Amino acid sequence: MTPSTEERRAAAVPRGLSSAHPMLIARAEGARVWDTDGREYLDFAAGIGVLNVGHRHPRVVAAVREQLDTLTHMACQVAMYDGYLTLASRLAALVGGSVPRKTLLVSTGAEATENAAKIARAHTNRPGIITCAGSFHGRTLLALTMTASNPGYRQNFGPFAPDVYHVPYPYEYRGWTTSRALAELDELFATRVTPDRVAAIIVEPQLGEGGFVPAPPAYLRALRDLTRRHGIVLILDEIQSGFGRTGRMFGYEHSDIEPDLVCLAKGLGGGLPLAAIVGTADIMDAPPAPGLGGTYAGNPLACAAALAVLDIFDEDHLVERSARIGASLRAGLEKLQARVPHIGDVRGLGSMLAMELVTSRESREPDATLAQTVIDHARDRGLLLLKCGPHKNVVRLLPPLVASDADVNCALHILNEVL
Ligand code: PMP
Repeated sequence: MTPSTEERRAAAVPRGLSSAHPMLIARAEGARVWDTDGREYLDFAAGIGVLNVGHRHPRVVAAVREQLDTLTHMACQVAMYDGYLTLASRLAALVGGSVPRKTLLVSTGAEATENAAKIARAHTNRPGIITCAGSFHGRTLLALTMTASNPGYRQNFGPFAPDVYHVPYPYEYRGWTTSRALAELDELFATRVTPDRVAAIIVEPQLGEGGFVPAPPAYLRALRDLTRRHGIVLILDEIQSGFGRTGRMFGYEHSDIEPDLVCLAKGLGGGLPLAAIVGTADIMDAPPAPGLGGTYAGNPLACAAALAVLDIFDEDHLVERSARIGASLRAGLEKLQARVPHIGDVRGLGSMLAMELVTSRESREPDATLAQTVIDHARDRGLLLLKCGPHKNVVRLLPPLVASDADVNCALHILNEVL
């Protein structure tokens, strides 16, 4: 008898790697995927917020195909190639701001956040890194030390890196107002580390894995003021929130701040593994050679894909599309919330939206079982979703930004039926 997918998986893959959905995917296109039984799904997981331009966007496929014919790997430490340089300057211009920027390309989000922390330490000659409870910055050891969205990621993988401090994120639904969160930062400076020992504060403009909690603009502005005052590097982790997801190109734009370093990944490569740190030239130049790099960093195929992604954003106005998708989804979710008392909170920026599910509106007690049931039943009806949040009770929506109005209505219809 041929083994099932689950049997093959159990035999060949360690149990520490989980998949949200128990099927085998055969192919994908745009906002849809098909499993090996031929079943079609609307993919509102989008490869965990990677496929903002959709699966296998024809321009991404064409750019990668063309690149395959000339150069697939070089290693930027051996010699440069045009794709790296063109992308580096386009990303620097895209992030922009009042001072010149430079770009370091790497392969994964974790490498982006780790390198950002290293660059900030080199620039300030200080050890401390401050991050938020609820944040996810990756799974390698320094990134994992900065991650605090779920103890399951950390387990007994320590000892963790020293000099990393966590402060509460402004999660208003759970009582953490901006002023309370900022008071905890003052308390950290008063009791555990002085600002002159802190290299960087790293923050997501909207928590991703931590529950799709947007930071109020006043919070990010306060961080910007405080970091300027103390010579601390402000790092924005835009790995999940970037590339149009929040209805602006980057999530921090909602707060009108200029970060020092911006970490990018996911949506950047349009499905190919690529990440970047874009920062002010003085900070980016702090570590001398050979402090930065990676064998696969800025792989030519991934650079070609990313350049196509940037063209698609320009030509197809995907940032505006994200805002429009977000407005329709939000209206639908709020209508649903008025009917279903288990939807405690509907929140998020642009199309980066989520529902926090609770046993009752009054108690606000997290209902993880309901969140899982919603996700399983939605899949049975052809909609792929993911959950998030420290209590695993938040259902998040990550629609590809090429999803049509009909796709958005279909997703809302399925959620309506399921709930
Ligand atoms: N930062 C954020 C905000 C993320 O959402 C993620 C991935 N979920 C990462 C960093 C890590 O990215 P990667 O998995 O590519 O290492």
